[in-house]
Amino acid sequence: MLSGVEVRLRGALPSPSDAHDAGQRLGRRLVLRHALDGCRVTVNANKRRVLAWRLEPFPELFVHWSLAPWADDVLAVLDGDRQAWIRLRDRLPSHDPEAVPTDTRPRGRVHDLTELMRTQREWLTRAPEVPVTWGRWPRMVPRRTLRLGSCTTSGAPLIRIHPVLDHEDVPDWFVGFVVFHELLHVVFPPLVGASRRVVHPRSFRMAERRHPDHARALAWERRHVGTLVRRCAERVSG
Ligand SMILES: [Zn+2]
Repeated sequence: MLSGVEVRLRGALPSPSDAHDAGQRLGRRLVLRHALDGCRVTVNANKRRVLAWRLEPFPELFVHWSLAPWADDVLAVLDGDRQAWIRLRDRLPSHDPEAVPTDTRPRGRVHDLTELMRTQREWLTRAPEVPVTWGRWPRMVPRRTLRLGSCTTSGAPLIRIHPVLDHEDVPDWFVGFVVFHELLHVVFPPLVGASRRVVHPRSFRMAERRHPDHARALAWERRHVGTLVRRCAERVSG
């Protein structure tokens, strides 16, 4: 259990004392805003982790030194404000356009991902607000399996859901479960060990099993993956 604000400095920072002060201020704002007992702020010089937030095993914010002084915008990004992210991005020493979420299109023909995200967040305590969008159709014909969702966790997180799920035959609770799975990737980021990366840590799997649709979602996927792959292949080659 962490109480108060702990600041860690990582990497080559132009001014460690400024970074420490900015980290403290940011941490105090986070504790107040999210009613936390405490949190850790890691100020880094890591271009691949300019802004990331996780709640387990304790609340921790990773922030690039150039963004740490902009507490208002950092807090707004954690609340899902994309304009704030665009402002922050421009303050990075040299920004990487690849790290920016593309325009989101959450409203599909059948399913509205914003609405599904809203209901799925209720299954988690202190779930972050993460933008969600329908992904693009792949250019390659899939073989036996599909990646139904994906999530970027470096920079501002963005969840993408496979467009093959935007169909009358796909129940909304199933799409909701896929959204939930991807949301868990934000709450429980991959563990990077000495020899391998654990994409679905134990804490992730336990939280996933607590979801009321867990069993029927796995069963539905097993039963229908063939149809989804076929539908996707038809779309790609047609
Ligand atoms: Zn996963």
